[in-house]
Amino acid sequence: MKSALVLLALLCCALPLLAAVQLPTPEGGKAEIVLRSDKAGAPRWSLAIHGGAGTIPKDIPASERDAYLASLQKALEIGRGVLAGGGTSLDAVEKIVRFLEDDPLFNAGKGAVYTHDGTHELDAAIMDGRDLTCGSVAGLKTVKNPISLARLVKERSPHVFLIGEGAEAFAAEMGVERVPNSSFDTPQRYVQWQEALRKEKEAKPKGTVGAVALDQHGNLAAATSTGGMTNKRWGRLGDVPVIGAGTYANNKTCAISATGWGEKFIRNTVAHDISALMEYAGLTLQQAADRVIHQKLEKDDGGVIGVAHDGSIALVFNSEGMYRGAADSNGRFEVKIWE
Ligand code: ASP
Repeated sequence: MKSALVLLALLCCALPLLAAVQLPTPEGGKAEIVLRSDKAGAPRWSLAIHGGAGTIPKDIPASERDAYLASLQKALEIGRGVLAGGGTSLDAVEKIVRFLEDDPLFNAGKGAVYTHDGTHELDAAIMDGRDLTCGSVAGLKTVKNPISLARLVKERSPHVFLIGEGAEAFAAEMGVERVPNSSFDTPQRYVQWQEALRKEKEAKPKGTVGAVALDQHGNLAAATSTGGMTNKRWGRLGDVPVIGAGTYANNKTCAISATGWGEKFIRNTVAHDISALMEYAGLTLQQAADRVIHQKLEKDDGGVIGVAHDGSIALVFNSEGMYRGAADSNGRFEVKIWE
């Protein structure tokens, strides 16, 4: 009887794990993938990712939709591997963002949007919620994985923000992988750029990438990477590398990564505002993110992903869709594009 009870208890513990391991592939016309377990209690680790927000028509070809879902799913799996194995939130968010930078579907690294002059200028930031250390890079032209250079700024320089030629010189000193600017080209982004040139305006793209995580040591981290806005000029920077606007992490409150119309996110210091509402007004992450995204910003400006110190997750956007995913140690595992 006793051994039967022990067996039952072991099975109960293993079930959520099994549910998390046997992931469905995004085949067979699924518009989203959701796996959840009913395990209660605060998660030991939590993770959220995004691949950009914006106008994402619900009738995009199924093959395109499935490609996004598969990539988000792979990114979540990468993060889950790090966090479930006891790794740090900082390693998890860097690894996820590197993967998404290398995926041409997203507007970061390979697949970045074109500037007005037909080049690519990349921005990224990473922040450690333990001690508020952070690193940002902007206007990069040859660094294959901007997020890793941002981490080197944080860890191997006395500064927090490096731009343009100086950032490239730092990249050379650090020996990170460099590539020709044209290697970030993709036909889809080229078409978007040509359209934007015809209309003579900066176009809001979708496809910035970001990750936020809480690790088993109780530390939060955030990372974001982007090519910015299509047809941007004059060394334009968005919110992504601006700490407190598009990226922020603080162990007292939450880790946030944003995506959308960068100028709006800078004006409203979105990421820090969410943290401040939690710290000073006692709001939960969900309440704070809802307030900023739905009450301060305007429709179609974009969205945020966040993880709080208690492991709760918020995925909030005011646009038609946001490529996103969430996972935690209680067996939650989901990727979605629309509501
Ligand atoms: N926020 C990014 C920027 O303004 C763009 C995006 O998220 O799509 O540079």
